[in-house]
Amino acid sequence: MSFKVPALPYAFDALAPHISARTVELHYEKHHQGYAKKLNTALEGKPEAEKSLEELILTTEGDVFNNAAQIWNHTFYWRSLGPKGGGEPTAGLRAAIVDAFGTVDTMKHELAAAAKGEFGSGWAWLVLDKDGRLRVAQSSDAHNPLRKGHTPLLTIDVWEHAYYLDYQNRRADYVESLIDHLIDWGFVASNLDAIGGGEGSRKADRHYREAASEFAERA
Ligand code: FE
Repeated sequence: MSFKVPALPYAFDALAPHISARTVELHYEKHHQGYAKKLNTALEGKPEAEKSLEELILTTEGDVFNNAAQIWNHTFYWRSLGPKGGGEPTAGLRAAIVDAFGTVDTMKHELAAAAKGEFGSGWAWLVLDKDGRLRVAQSSDAHNPLRKGHTPLLTIDVWEHAYYLDYQNRRADYVESLIDHLIDWGFVASNLDAIGGGEGSRKADRHYREAASEFAERA
């Protein structure tokens, strides 16, 4: 059994003009699918090959961890965005954001600062932390907040391959454009709802275990 990346949830040109069809196509077909190929190669003949994607993320290091986490992170990234994204969070999510950050704009500002400020390749996240509080987080390279017991609610890819064709070195423009036009707040709200809005990481673990097939299919 090998890992296979789920279908992109929209057409290559669905995020244009904010992210071009060419960027989405290369990012999905060469990078996201590339991580699955590398993971399958890295797992050949190893006992870890029987583990789920989440177990690999939580228990391995090196090549296996990097490629497993990058599969998960990219699946989550595509779902964090959408052609009808942008605008404002819906009522329940909005209340949780206001509770944690004071205002929605403060949260967006912190999220943008985390995405712009991550040194090198990495990710910016909105998470529910172990204490059930919303916060912004950064991770470098392939790292994923699940390793720290946090529940990811949305992510922004800030590896150069996510924006360089469209924005060259202007990462800040990519981040602003993505936050203003592409974040699917309905997806973010559904992640929060699925774990009971703040009852801690045990529910979150179950949520992502149950959702495992959504993050990588076995073929
Ligand atoms: Fe990427």
